[in-house]
Amino acid sequence: MKNIIIAIDGYSSCGKSTLARQLAKELNYHYVDTGAMYRAVTLYLIQNQIDIHHPEMVANVLNQISIAFDFDEATQTQITLLNGENIENQIRINPRVASAVSDVSALSEVRRFLVKQQQELGKNKGIVMDGRDIGTVVFPTAELKLFITAEASIRANRRLEELKEKGQNTTYEEVLANLAKRDHIDTTRADSPLVKASDAIEIDNSNLSKDEQLDQVLKLVKGLQMNGNG
Ligand code: C5P
Repeated sequence: MKNIIIAIDGYSSCGKSTLARQLAKELNYHYVDTGAMYRAVTLYLIQNQIDIHHPEMVANVLNQISIAFDFDEATQTQITLLNGENIENQIRINPRVASAVSDVSALSEVRRFLVKQQQELGKNKGIVMDGRDIGTVVFPTAELKLFITAEASIRANRRLEELKEKGQNTTYEEVLANLAKRDHIDTTRADSPLVKASDAIEIDNSNLSKDEQLDQVLKLVKGLQMNGNG
């Protein structure tokens, strides 16, 4: 069967990456978490004290940033590398990253830099990529586009659990406020705002288990492959 591109977009913490990971495993595809790439750039800028409100300063250091992914067989998880260093944990739990990433992602220089790499990663297809602009900008001709949503309170609770598991001490209110802030910036920015592609299939997973959601999407993938579109 021919390989396809699966583009998954949606709001923060709506379970996109869980679904993308499950699909990649099931279909034996590559998974690319583009949010991790924006988080990695943000961490680099914080570590090097680059003022994110000066796009030209940010643009000047982008060529010093190399992002790669590794896979930890033991824990079956993807690891993000920034200039060869494992930064997976830092980009997930550092509140400064969570708070600045959407402002960094609004910069066209940063988007151009990362979108080029994302397109390169998907050029042989057989990929599941999740983010905010995958079906609209990165792969507008992807064979399957999904737009995932879930109620804000459910998303905040899921994210809170995730942070607690990683040992972060935070509150529901703080998490909800961060999600609301990121969603606002992501949907209102001038360059590549988060928007449902006209040909994307919307899935509200507020009341779906992870397995129910996976089953729904696998049916869509199989349908595409059987119709010869895959
Ligand atoms: O997916 P995740 O929540 O890790 O993404 C972090 C942030 O990166 C998002 O809030 C958004 O601002 C940005 N992002 C983006 N475009 C993507 C993926 C993520 O702007 N394709």
